[in-house]
Amino acid sequence: MNLSRFAFSLEFAKEMDNKDPLRDFRDKFYIPEKNGHPVLYFCGNSLGLQPKSVAASINRDLKKWAEKGVEGHFEGAKPWVDARKPSKPILAKLLGALPEEVVAMNSLSVNLHLLLVSFYRPEKRKFKILTEAGAFPSDQYILASQVKYHGYNPEEAIIEMSPQPGEHLLRTNDILEKIREHQDELALVMMSGVQYYTGQFFDLKAISREASLHGIKVGFDLAHAIGNVPLALHDWGADFATWCSYKYLNSGPGNVSGIFVHQKHANEKDIPRFAGWWGHDEGRRFLMEKGFDPMPGADGWLLSNDPVLGLAAHQASLEIFEAAGMEKIRAKSELLTGYLEFVIRETIGGPGEFELISPSKPSERGCQLSLFLHKGGKAIFDLWTEQGLVADWRNPNVIRLAPTPLYNSFQDVYAFGKMVQTSLDSQP
Ligand SMILES: *Cc1c(COP(=O)(O)O)cnc(C)c1O
Repeated sequence: MNLSRFAFSLEFAKEMDNKDPLRDFRDKFYIPEKNGHPVLYFCGNSLGLQPKSVAASINRDLKKWAEKGVEGHFEGAKPWVDARKPSKPILAKLLGALPEEVVAMNSLSVNLHLLLVSFYRPEKRKFKILTEAGAFPSDQYILASQVKYHGYNPEEAIIEMSPQPGEHLLRTNDILEKIREHQDELALVMMSGVQYYTGQFFDLKAISREASLHGIKVGFDLAHAIGNVPLALHDWGADFATWCSYKYLNSGPGNVSGIFVHQKHANEKDIPRFAGWWGHDEGRRFLMEKGFDPMPGADGWLLSNDPVLGLAAHQASLEIFEAAGMEKIRAKSELLTGYLEFVIRETIGGPGEFELISPSKPSERGCQLSLFLHKGGKAIFDLWTEQGLVADWRNPNVIRLAPTPLYNSFQDVYAFGKMVQTSLDSQP
């Protein structure tokens, strides 16, 4: 990104905010406070802030529960048996999918296991999984335990890709080359969409294409991608994906996850899967009969009846995404994170003191910048936290900063720069 378009001044930040078509969306969220001031919340990659509309949405279902009890399942404008349905078209847009390819359910780690039951089908020679080194720990544990469940040794069956020596990011060509190199052994390519530690947005289109070309299944963990970067899962031909809703999707702590299963698998009734009654043909669900008959599409992977209260929060939040539009969100995000990169370069010393390990090209990253501190370390981070920054520290020396376009402003980024400048000036 051309950083010379930016200026480190309050006037400039105010002007950017005035020109921002999404500037009014900040008011739709509660911003936490510290010492009587709103914090600089750059932690939407960990837990998105609460939309003000969430309470009313949950309260509607609480009231219905109080007034109707069990009859709420079938009565009223939004019967609970269909609670997940309004989320489908909005999730589909965020993922670049068809509504029948997506469904909100369970939690992320549970869903990843369920999807691997169906799409990690190791055979004699083709039993390996290709993934990135340093993936989020839950994903590492999930892959290793799945591999063991099938009787293989994770050391042998999981191939981890690391960046080239001295580099922090994976090169797309190296990923594609690895797929070609191991094409005869791979049963699955499974990666994150946006890497949680570096913020790298992998080329999911190229990865999906290369894997499919060799008859290898491909799936993505989109925990840091959904609501953050543009996605086109259907066109890219990914087999499956899952995500969580409490990071960029602002749906509340631990709230419902979701899955994507490509249309090409929609009617594969015999695909191995762990089944439950909510995935059974919904027209016959309450006949309580023997013999599982999966619904077509992603719904066939449902197990349990819908978590209605969580979905109420999820829906309120998704409607904000619908109102803002992912195109506008992404356009602002590129500018806002570009501005943060500029401000960091203006304020935090030279390259010997810090290093931005996230990609410098906006198309290869989401909103997050990962700042590697060669000096200062945790003490600096603690000082900034004391002064009202909410960001995220990862050992050994990385601060993750995620200005999110729905509720962060250019003035937030400017204020961050000012805080950093003052704290570094006062260092001995
Ligand atoms: C946040 C995150 C998780 C968390 O998993 P839960 O099952 O929701 O606790 C897993 N994987 C990745 C890549 C994440 O970023």
